[in-house]
Amino acid sequence: MDFSNKLVNWYQVNKRDLPWRNTVNAYFIWLSEIILQQTRVAQGMPYYLAFVKAFPKVEDLANASEDKVLKMWQGLGYYSRARNLHFTAKDIADNYKGKFPNDHQKILKLKGVGAYTAAAITSFAFEMPYAVVDGNVIRVLSRVFGVDIPYDTTLGKKHFAELAQELLLVENASTYNQAIMEFGAMQCKPKSPDCSVCPMQDFCLAYSKNTITELPVKSKKIKVKNRFLHFLMIEESGNVYLGKRKKGIWNGLYEFPFLEFDERLLEKQVMKNEKWSDIFKDSNTELLSVSSEFIHVLSHQKINAQFWHLKVNNVQLENFELIAKKNLLNYPVSRLTEKYFQAIELV
Ligand code: SF4
Repeated sequence: MDFSNKLVNWYQVNKRDLPWRNTVNAYFIWLSEIILQQTRVAQGMPYYLAFVKAFPKVEDLANASEDKVLKMWQGLGYYSRARNLHFTAKDIADNYKGKFPNDHQKILKLKGVGAYTAAAITSFAFEMPYAVVDGNVIRVLSRVFGVDIPYDTTLGKKHFAELAQELLLVENASTYNQAIMEFGAMQCKPKSPDCSVCPMQDFCLAYSKNTITELPVKSKKIKVKNRFLHFLMIEESGNVYLGKRKKGIWNGLYEFPFLEFDERLLEKQVMKNEKWSDIFKDSNTELLSVSSEFIHVLSHQKINAQFWHLKVNNVQLENFELIAKKNLLNYPVSRLTEKYFQAIELV
């Protein structure tokens, strides 16, 4: 089978010129890989360039404050990646004298680094023979080789990992790994792959059996939970209440106090609810505006958020501090809150 060589030939002609492909600096490669997880290249590119500029060495990232790292990450989502990035930079600065480890096992032990990222770093930076397996790779392999084992099962994970490793060009691991991912992203795309100009067409089983739209196969359907959050921008004499989140997907980010419900409520229902009374029972409240809904879809949950702008006096809120409203933009916040700021032209 000349799959692997054809792949590399295709790559030499069709590859995009991306900045992290022009380096063997393991730190830069690691940065790019973390930024690109669950993120499109076009979206991740400015973040990568900003991080490399602000933190040219891993120690620079290690020495930055968490607020600065999260602020620079703002808008990219999945903030655990930024927290792990910061943690791992400190780990490398403290325990590896600032030199990125060049050992597969040690790289795998770094926080936020899984099998895929470890294979990417070791092959791209050090030419070690570890095959990458990500969504693009799984799609290509399942179609070309007609694999219909669900990729999210133990058996499927093992099968795709072994097949990927078998096909790896050991002497050319970096280029091969880049090639198969690029091929999945640009040629064998999830929808409407352009099979008419594909070099794999002669032996692609999905093409010959007309099963392209059925592959790859996934077993689990994730149940998505709907959450209804009402964020309260409570203003007192030009100041607003803001707190730093200590857990969950927005851990480390700043947020307004909020009320959560598991169903969509009308404004008057929210204001009659005891959660509302708990906060505002002893205060004079003037409601200035309620935003329309902002939607944020994650793998396991759909967040439906509304922002309430209120003027009050005498409100008691534990774990929130009053900060000047004009300084709000200095704090790292979720994409949802950023969208609200844009909507009210705070930015
Ligand atoms: S022939 Fe079509 S389905 Fe098969 S590898 Fe090429 S693009 Fe993908």
